[in-house]
Amino acid sequence: MAREKKVEHYDVVVIGGGPGGLSAAIYAGRARLKTILIEKGLVGGLATYTNEIANYPGFPDEPKGETITNLMKKQAENMGVKFKLTAVKSVDLMGEEKVIETFRNKYIAKTVIIATGGRPRITGALNEDKYLFDKGISFCATCDAAANTDKHVVVIGSGDAAIEEGMFLTKFASKVTVSVMHDEGIMDCNEIAKAAALANPKMEFVWNTVVHSFEGENHLDTVVLKNVKTDELIPISCDNCFEFIGYLPNTELFEGQVELTNRKYVPVDEKKETNIPGVFAVGDVTDKWLRQIATAVGDGAIAGTAAEKYIAEEEIFNDKIMQKEHPGLIYLYNAVDNDSREFLASIENIENQFENLVVNRVDVYKSTGIAEKLNVETFPSVVITKDGDVFKTITEMCADTISDTISNL
Ligand SMILES: Cc1cc2nc3c(=O)[nH]c(=O)nc-3n(C[C@H](O)[C@H](O)[C@H](O)COP(=O)(O)OP(=O)(O)OC[C@H]3O[C@@H](n4cnc5c(N)ncnc54)[C@H](O)[C@@H]3O)c2cc1C
Repeated sequence: MAREKKVEHYDVVVIGGGPGGLSAAIYAGRARLKTILIEKGLVGGLATYTNEIANYPGFPDEPKGETITNLMKKQAENMGVKFKLTAVKSVDLMGEEKVIETFRNKYIAKTVIIATGGRPRITGALNEDKYLFDKGISFCATCDAAANTDKHVVVIGSGDAAIEEGMFLTKFASKVTVSVMHDEGIMDCNEIAKAAALANPKMEFVWNTVVHSFEGENHLDTVVLKNVKTDELIPISCDNCFEFIGYLPNTELFEGQVELTNRKYVPVDEKKETNIPGVFAVGDVTDKWLRQIATAVGDGAIAGTAAEKYIAEEEIFNDKIMQKEHPGLIYLYNAVDNDSREFLASIENIENQFENLVVNRVDVYKSTGIAEKLNVETFPSVVITKDGDVFKTITEMCADTISDTISNL
């Protein structure tokens, strides 16, 4: 018989313990939200794969990635965040209560922060596993270009990322050899990048090739390319190889629930919220321009804070705004708008007319969350409630109309 899963309740469940998830957890914990972070591999995420982080502000000594992420973990623990080292197997995010399941546990959460990152696509060529990350195969020119000063590097791919990153590498490396699988002159990148790359004296192209194997004693020293037309093997001696053949976001778990782009990234708004209220996404898994530790951490700060606001608004909305005991009046106004402010006096008069009327004033300048829940887009507006439901929304601010509506409830 299948074992019953243990059920635990949280304000915030963070899925993924890379820099994005850790930062979100620190902010959520700091806001005194009951927070758990679930990580299936190493806490620290992709950042732990690198031995030198040179561009994360505040760490001039270029520490290992894990030195930085261990500090983030400690900080999250200090904020009361719980850690669980296991994979999230399934999620149900559509309802007000979000359900996150691991092998043994079922977590019920008010909010979820998706921080599952992604993984670079690899070629699948012989011996590739032996050299991944710090043994000669890299996936990030921004991170590793400076370490290749005056060296010979091989770039795999001819899309926008490959060619633009390859061009960036020529500022450091003495030579950049690019393996392109198409016929001479045909590349997958945009025409401007292509023209610039073809004119770059440090760039050399080996057409009609894919990687056959990677070779080297302890560190990569040769990339063996294969001509796809002739099967000829072409060994290229090099110091490092950069693969830019795509990036796969870890979003399989969320398909069919969270909206994804055609490349399977999660689109988010400025609060890092997905299409599902209360579900946020941060870091490399999101549809964004720069995938780095600094940007993942920034995303986490926003999502952790936004999750706190979401929960606070939910509580106010359910307990105060949509209370069932008495008739209610919600005045949605914009504090920086003159007409909005002037009508506050009329709202006070109406409040004084009805003994049991519960009046809430919501300043949409601070947050539009409650207005969105009430489907109100014009301000000022008045929403009248009865038995915990919307009875009428009034957009023309006339005190008599509002009073009559309440009298007729
Ligand atoms: C070799 C290398 C070098 C890099 N160097 C630099 C650098 O010098 N500077 C820099 O700023 N950036 C660098 N980066 C990029 C940086 O590491 C990433 O941008 C950053 O780690 C993204 O953070 P994240 O939290 O979004 O995702 P990730 O770090 O990818 O973390 C996601 C985490 O989610 C976990 N996860 C996924 N699915 C599940 C699941 N179902 N259940 C539980 N957990 C799950 C994963 O195990 C992973 O730990 C480098 C990347 C690589 C690969």
